[in-house]
Formats: sequence, structure tokens, C-alpha cells
Amino acid sequence: MISRIKHLLHRNRHRERYALLDELLRNQSLSNEQLHRKQQEDLSAIIDHAFSNVPYYREMWERHPGRESLNSRPGGRSHNAVRTVNSLPILRKDDVIQHRNEMLAQGLDRSRLKIGNTGGSTGKPVSFYYDAHKGELMRAGMCRSYMGSGWKPGQKILNFWGARQDIKGGNRFSKIVNDAIAAEKTIAAYEYTEAQLHDWASAIRSYQPVLLQGYASILAELARHVIDNKIRMPDTLLGVFSTAEVLYGWQRELMERAFGCKVFNQYGSREIPNIACECRHGNQHIFTDMVYLESLNFDQEDRLVITSLTNRVMPFIRYEIGDSGRLKEGICDCGSPFPMMEMGLCRSNDIIKTRSGKSIYPSYFIHLLDGLDGIKQYQFIQSEPDKITLNLVSPSSLSAETLNSLRARVRRDVDENMVLEINAVDEIKRTVSGKHRFVISNLA
Ligand SMILES: [Zn+2]
Repeated sequence: MISRIKHLLHRNRHRERYALLDELLRNQSLSNEQLHRKQQEDLSAIIDHAFSNVPYYREMWERHPGRESLNSRPGGRSHNAVRTVNSLPILRKDDVIQHRNEMLAQGLDRSRLKIGNTGGSTGKPVSFYYDAHKGELMRAGMCRSYMGSGWKPGQKILNFWGARQDIKGGNRFSKIVNDAIAAEKTIAAYEYTEAQLHDWASAIRSYQPVLLQGYASILAELARHVIDNKIRMPDTLLGVFSTAEVLYGWQRELMERAFGCKVFNQYGSREIPNIACECRHGNQHIFTDMVYLESLNFDQEDRLVITSLTNRVMPFIRYEIGDSGRLKEGICDCGSPFPMMEMGLCRSNDIIKTRSGKSIYPSYFIHLLDGLDGIKQYQFIQSEPDKITLNLVSPSSLSAETLNSLRARVRRDVDENMVLEINAVDEIKRTVSGKHRFVISNLA
């Protein structure tokens, strides 16, 4: 009863959010063709808006060869929006850093804008302007994703946010922490000990949430603690939403075992939220009513390039977000009209380059430790062209034979001169954004 009243108060406070959610849910019942048409129209509209109102894009596109297709537009919307967007230049993180102010649309009331920051897991924190509408749309989009698990608006969510910047200071996220009418609690999960993991497991037992949400590495640690200590989790749990980091198969397994429910991988960033989310059938669906996503092959990788269809304050058009992935053909049994994609493994991890010019993808290192027991955390760091340091947090030390075999495999697969230095450490520090990075290259 109390929770029902709280939910009504919440709806009343966030009218815009719930209206946006209704709209998003309606889009979900459109056909593939209707959605595709809507995406073309939205794409066309955001390009028009950026060209007419945003100094950065106007100047950039006027100088660009793709200009022809932009200029041929007036009077006819019949042009192919996809062809137009494909002719536009790619927006890089450096461009956003350098041109933040010129990327703002003209004629806005600047006093209503706020500045947000990305985590900076790729080493380049990006700051951007946003307004209350973007915040509400972001939350509405997340609610739609949650609903895929069977969760209903008003049901409890427990968040484990690892970002230091969100926990210190009085921004949006810290406000959630003590929000009495939101059915949501947030635990600051930046650094932790076994004792803290134990407290968090107790918090889940007493709060009895329907969803858990947080960084994959934190939730996997918590899952390991729950399994090791045979802690019983409440059967209210319907889903675990993993966000902001690559979700590895072994992490998913741990979480599903510990929490007794399905894990859903969400994909979005602070500058462009709600890009895609997994359905019950384990397929990642792209929210084509919110983004236009391209996968372009450069640097020998399928890089994701994203256009936000909703951000009119500071449009992001053909933004190279720093992740890899590709579009996936076919239709999913879940019945969602949204097309599918697959994430690459490189998110927030680095590629290791050898002196001879070979590139080794993070997944190689992530699988190097497969099958070894007792490793709680690890991180590979390349500090010199011929040296990789592996920091291991492990209660029992690995045998000399195992260590030698790891070194030999690295010499065989990576480079014959590559030295693997293995250190036992007590803990591995997270990045400022709270993400855990498994593979880091400190080479320029
Ligand atoms: Zn599906």
C-alpha cells in the first residue's frame, strides 16, 4: 500500500518522465518498417536542426565535401537521410573536448543547462551540456529497458554505482541515495573489502529489490562473495542490469548463479544514453527510436559511430564513442521490432602493441587466465614496448609452474621478447569513473 502511494507521488513528480516512457513503449509496438521510417525522419530532422542551429556543425559541414547532399535538401524531405548522414564527417572525442561551446544549439536558455562528464575510461574524459529533459528521457529509456525483465515502474531497484565523481559532490546521482519516494537506493561501490561485500549482500536481503544495477566488475565480485559464503538472495529479484563496462561470460555466469535471475547487458554512455539493451533471449537490441548506430571498420576494428536522435541541446552526430561492435542480422524470438547488434570486447580496455607492430586485442589477455582458480582480480599493464605487468589479487599464490607457463604463452603468442612480470597485490585501484580495466597500455 505504502509503495503504491510512493509510486503515485513519484509519477506526479516526474510527469514528463512517465509521459516519455509511454511514448517509448508505444514505439516498441511499431513494425520494423514503421520504426525504420521514423528513424529516417528523426535523422533528417536532427541533421536539419544541427545544420541550422549549431555553429560547430554548420561550419564543419560547409567545409566538407558532403555539403552537396545537405544543400540539395530544401524543399524535399525525400532525400535519403542515411545517405546524407553517411557523407558527414565523424565526430571524435577530441572534437567534443575542443568545441564544446560551439556544439551548443543557438537560442537556448543557458541558465537551464548543466554540465555532465563521461567516465574517462578511455583516458579522455569528455564534458557535455545537458538539460532536465535529457535527464528525464534517459531515465524513461532505462525504465523501458528494465521492463524487459518483467520489472514494473514503482518496483525497487538497488544500484551499485562505482563512479567516484557521482558519489562525491551534490550531483544528480547522490540525490538518488536518500530519495524517500523513489523506489530506488544507491550504494557507493567505489572501493570495497570483503566486509563491505558482506554488508551489501545483507543490504540486498533486507531491501528486497526487484532489480540490481551496476558495473559488471562490481556485481561479479559481489556475486562471487554471495556464492563463496552461501548467502541466500531474496526471490524478489527479477533481473541484474549490467552497465558501463564489458560484461564477460564468466561474470554473467557468476551473477546468474548468485542472484538466481537473468542478467541484462545495457549499452549506453552518459553523453548518449540508451543505445541498446539485451532482451530475455540474450540479444542486444538497438533503440532505433533514440539513436542511429553505424559500425565502421577502421584501425582494423569495427568501431561504433552513433548519432543521437533526441539531443537537440548539444547534438552528437556521427560520434565515435570509443567502443567496438557490429550490427547483427535476423529477427529475435522475443518479438522486439528493434534490430540487433553485438558488442566488441574492447570497451574501456586497451589494445597491446608490440615492438614489431603487432596488435593484441584485450580479449586475448582476458582469456589467458581462464581455468585458473582463486583469482579475485587482475589487470594487465603494458608500461614498456617489451614488458607487460600482470597484477593479481589472489588469496593463494599460483604455482611456479603456472607462472612459467603464462610467461611462455605470452612469448609464444604476443612476442618472443615480451616479458611478463607477475605481481601479487592486495587490491587493484579502479579508474576515476569507478570502472575496472583489465588491460591497459601506458604507451603513447
Ligand atoms: Zn530479443
